[in-house]
Amino acid sequence: MKILVLNSGSSSIKFKLFDGDKAVASGLVEKIGEQKSKVELKDLKTLQKFQQELPIKNHEDGMKLVNELFAESGILHDLNELDGCGHRIVHGGPRLTKHCLVDDDILKEIERIAHMAPLHNPAHLIGIKTMMNTAKDVPNVTVFDTAFHQSMPDYAYMYALPYEYYEKHKVRKYGFHGTSHSYVSKKAAQILNKDINSFNAISAHLGNGASVCAIKNGKCIDTSMGFTPLEGLIMGTRCGDIDPALLPFLANELNIDIKELDTIMNKKSGVYGICGFNDFRDIDTQIGLGNDKARLAFDMFCYRLIKYIGSYYAILPQVDALIFTAGIGENDYKVRQGICQKLEHLGFVIDTDVNQNSRSGVISKKGSKIDILVVPTDEELEIAKITSDILNNLGI
Ligand code: ADP
Repeated sequence: MKILVLNSGSSSIKFKLFDGDKAVASGLVEKIGEQKSKVELKDLKTLQKFQQELPIKNHEDGMKLVNELFAESGILHDLNELDGCGHRIVHGGPRLTKHCLVDDDILKEIERIAHMAPLHNPAHLIGIKTMMNTAKDVPNVTVFDTAFHQSMPDYAYMYALPYEYYEKHKVRKYGFHGTSHSYVSKKAAQILNKDINSFNAISAHLGNGASVCAIKNGKCIDTSMGFTPLEGLIMGTRCGDIDPALLPFLANELNIDIKELDTIMNKKSGVYGICGFNDFRDIDTQIGLGNDKARLAFDMFCYRLIKYIGSYYAILPQVDALIFTAGIGENDYKVRQGICQKLEHLGFVIDTDVNQNSRSGVISKKGSKIDILVVPTDEELEIAKITSDILNNLGI
């Protein structure tokens, strides 16, 4: 099946074309609405690039250009030849709990909950409508980052706030990065030759945004991100868990409003807030230069993660594997080592030599009670697979 995967932003469309499990082309439309917009397509077999730089007025014009580049590359005559299009949707809200075929009700619901993910959902909606107008024959499927976390029990997803906030405003933990946690846990089970339905794991998606997930019998039972992607781990520029009473305190002390506080917590905090760098490659360089704030940021990042892994170890009946993924998880052996060495007493025994030279596969020592793995995430492939499964099941 030929499936196009779209991740639409407010001024960009990221896309990848799959033929079965194989990615055949990828590309990006960027700076939509600006004078210097650009559309680029890469043939993943020949590595040939096709591109155009010109003002692109809106998403629909961008998608038309993608269609032209596909035809020029010879990879796809017309977008209408696709078997389906899978859309990454950050937030499914309280009702969109399963990935599904798009219809009018789904579009209305994504629109209705736009206030829950104002930076993402409205843009995703434009992406779907663009596809519906550009390739009228192609069925669209929505894949929600929040769906994997719907298996959390109520005592894990509820906040201890007045119950009516849950009833009236749907305030609860939703969790994010679900497509990634789902993909890497299935992949890890496969690598370890275990059945996903009886596989227990802790998966750490450590990118600019970072979250950790406790997986029991292949299903999420808890995750560190919450109502928004701000809760939990310390991230590139996000603070993660803090004392909520700091908000009124800081609002008073600094004479700032809640909007400014929101910006501070999301954009000016995390490891960046501590040391002025949010990329772990820079943090590593700075530590090498003796920058003590960079050392502190690194230690804080690891410490928070160690605490989360410890708490998920406690809630799982048994842990088969610890999985590292995303930019930091896949590339930063020092973070992985810093974390695992402090968890050795729980049975996480890392092989420091293998770890130092690995970007994928098992990195624990033979005989470690718990397997430790690096699994490169592939959210697009997971979206393509989910899309083709849904279309196959519906006989489309
Ligand atoms: P996003 O959340 O934006 O998708 P990624 O998963 O791509 O992020 O992760 C980006 C982050 O990964 C960078 O900010 C950086 O901290 C980290 N990273 C990427 N490559 C390396 C590397 N070689 N060594 C250490 N850290 C890296």
